[in-house]
Amino acid sequence: MRILVVEDERAIADFVGRGLESEGYAVTCVHDGAEGEALALTGRFDLLVLDLMLPGRTGMEILQSFRVADRETPVILLTARAEVSDRVAGLDSGATDYVTKPFAFEELAARIRTHLRRPGQEKPTALKVGSLEINLLKRSVSRGGLDIRLSAREFDLLAFLMRHPGQVLSREQLLNGVWGYDYDPGTNVVGVYIAYLRRKLSVDGLEDPIETLRSVGYRLLEET
Ligand code: CA
Repeated sequence: MRILVVEDERAIADFVGRGLESEGYAVTCVHDGAEGEALALTGRFDLLVLDLMLPGRTGMEILQSFRVADRETPVILLTARAEVSDRVAGLDSGATDYVTKPFAFEELAARIRTHLRRPGQEKPTALKVGSLEINLLKRSVSRGGLDIRLSAREFDLLAFLMRHPGQVLSREQLLNGVWGYDYDPGTNVVGVYIAYLRRKLSVDGLEDPIETLRSVGYRLLEET
């Protein structure tokens, strides 16, 4: 993971840079805003740490031009305690977070760890729809808190439905997404497995979570 630190106060840049290197990051520190902006725009970094008051270009200017090119990469602003309005403007301009000076290194390191594993960048390991919960790593399933045992194919079918809650999925989409067929084998395998799933997911007091839309497909209900 590569981090760019743009901070003109050398003492701060040094302690941040050394600390992050000791945590295993590859760190580039620069002390000038224009240089920082040029480096940020190379797209080589996984996260930026920007001071606001910089010679050359301000942290806010760097943030704004960076966000035109890149909306995803996390940007953490370093702000002075008095700069509340800058902080708000920074978040409005697409900063991911800010750390108020003076700060302990551990505080900044914790924010960096958090933002480098944002949910959008990582595949979810658990899904929840209504009363249904599955864990994709453990391949475990529960409904209304009760554990349910499914075969591998049943699990794949349920996981596919849970990735598209409330959406009508055609037989062809299910054949493709769950069985990997790009043609219709002309069997009723989807209908058969939907019936297996329904039976295993049936829990006293809870409705059938799968709706059949005749000659259209199936839909996993979002509220059951
Ligand atoms: Ca500064």
